[in-house]
Amino acid sequence: MNKPTNKNFITNIVDNDNNTNKFGGRVNTRFPPEPNGYLHIGHAKSIFLNFEIAKTYGGKCNLRFDDTNPEKENIEYIDSIKNDIEWLGYKWDSIHYASDYFEQLYTYAQKLIENNYAYVDSSSSEIIKEERGTLTEPGIKSKDRERPSDESLKIFEQMKQGKFNDGEYVLRLKIDMSSPNINMRDPVIYRIKKVEHHRTKNDWCIYPMYDFTHCISDAIENITHSLCTLEFEDHRDLYEWVIEKINHENQPQQIEFARLALEHNLMSKRKLSELVEKNYVESWDDPRMPTLSGMKRRGYTPNAIKDFCNRIGITKKNSAIEMGVLENTIREELNLTAKRVMGVLDPIKVTLVNYPKDETETIKATYNPNDINSGERSISISRNIFIDKNDFMEFPEKKYFRLAPGKEVRLRHAFNITCEKIIKDNSGEILELECTYDPISRDMSKGNKVKGMIHWVDANNCIDAQINVYDRLFSDSDPTSVDDINENSLMVKKSSKLEKNIDLNNNDERYQFERVGYFIKDSKSSNEKISYNKIVSLKDSWKKINKKGI
Ligand code: ATP
Ligand code: MG
Repeated sequence: MNKPTNKNFITNIVDNDNNTNKFGGRVNTRFPPEPNGYLHIGHAKSIFLNFEIAKTYGGKCNLRFDDTNPEKENIEYIDSIKNDIEWLGYKWDSIHYASDYFEQLYTYAQKLIENNYAYVDSSSSEIIKEERGTLTEPGIKSKDRERPSDESLKIFEQMKQGKFNDGEYVLRLKIDMSSPNINMRDPVIYRIKKVEHHRTKNDWCIYPMYDFTHCISDAIENITHSLCTLEFEDHRDLYEWVIEKINHENQPQQIEFARLALEHNLMSKRKLSELVEKNYVESWDDPRMPTLSGMKRRGYTPNAIKDFCNRIGITKKNSAIEMGVLENTIREELNLTAKRVMGVLDPIKVTLVNYPKDETETIKATYNPNDINSGERSISISRNIFIDKNDFMEFPEKKYFRLAPGKEVRLRHAFNITCEKIIKDNSGEILELECTYDPISRDMSKGNKVKGMIHWVDANNCIDAQINVYDRLFSDSDPTSVDDINENSLMVKKSSKLEKNIDLNNNDERYQFERVGYFIKDSKSSNEKISYNKIVSLKDSWKKINKKGI
């Protein structure tokens, strides 16, 4: 189903490297998540890129957990990340953890100190920040910059032994305090953190920083093309400096591409975790979330997500993608694959007064007009049916072609009905509609020509369900704060009625509820409370509702 990776500026670089034999024809990539949250659709872009490039060139793609920040990381995130990658259909060649390299990283740091490329600094983090300078002013050399190597080595060892408290000392690279690139102004590469690590437990109380860890991990794993997002462009000098100074035989090439931003979403694990913590959403896999687990629960397929990644392509220019692009990929797929059934989300009871009591007839209809192999379904109809409240208007506007008093409308797959009477309760609430049906119109060519067609379910033969209808998580196309969440992003329809042809035992089956949209059983649905999630509408719901009323 997926097309091969499109050519882009990165595949051009790889082609060129292969032509010049830069890496001996090898192509090794990696996906390096930090296990501090669940993966989101932005990560899918990176996963797709790294794994597809490896596949295209017969290379390898590793999974590497960048686990150098013990406070925020945990095993739940590691497991979820592995699950999500597998769900997308990718298999890593090998799995690694930056924490597996702690010993090697420590040895490299010692070497750098010995060679006068690093020093231990006792300046506070505030002073270090102050002395770093700005884009227009050079930095100031630290008072400890000229500390002799053997002294730094000794203190570094004592840092490792736990002799000092957090913040008392750091290890810094000795590069250039007046470099125009602030990342090169003696960056900190180790800090003391007396925190237990989820894998190395209490073996370490000093932890290496990302910039130091990442490039060395790439080199150790023989990565050729280290693909990362644009914000690391300014870190590339540092990346290359470290690789050169540790004199590693493998010299991976860092290449930056634009992050994915999706309109109406926030796309950082920190913000997504805030949504969960503040209970704005149910969990990381809330179907409104742009997390892969949320999208899975919402009913997105791995193919649709990969198709989306393929469509948006890879560039060096940051821009936000419209939600419509994402929604179209799943809509197009489901149009071809989803079985059709009928479902009434907001039911109103209709009695067909001239339909014989205790009789039921069966109507044949196709499961999917786009798939000749989808087979036929049998839909029952009887004297009592449900239609959707939206399909009835007591005082119809002009050009309203659906049901209204005295108006005739077609029941999809069945026959025409005319509304004769509205039955209300004391408060004026509509309880039921009484209609007559026209038996002749079973043959569409024989009944009156009517403009409106509505869906329905047999009240005597249907499934009671709750339907979760979702809207954009943020109304604003470019939200900044989680507090701006769209309060109407979840609408729960508690007493919906569904056609009996739905297979309640198949949790993966996606259905089109005719005229309404695409739905999947919620993974948290139970026998007591059957619930279905709306995946996507039939048309872009943010465009104007179809005026014809069909
Ligand atoms: P977040 O801000 O969501 O935590 P991150 O970049 O810190 O993102 P990592 O776990 O470090 O998250 O990311 C793993 C990989 O995924 C990195 O290579 C990163 O560049 C890439 N990635 C993260 N977010 C996006 C995105 N929105 N678009 C494309 N790639 C992304
Ligand atoms: Mg990160």
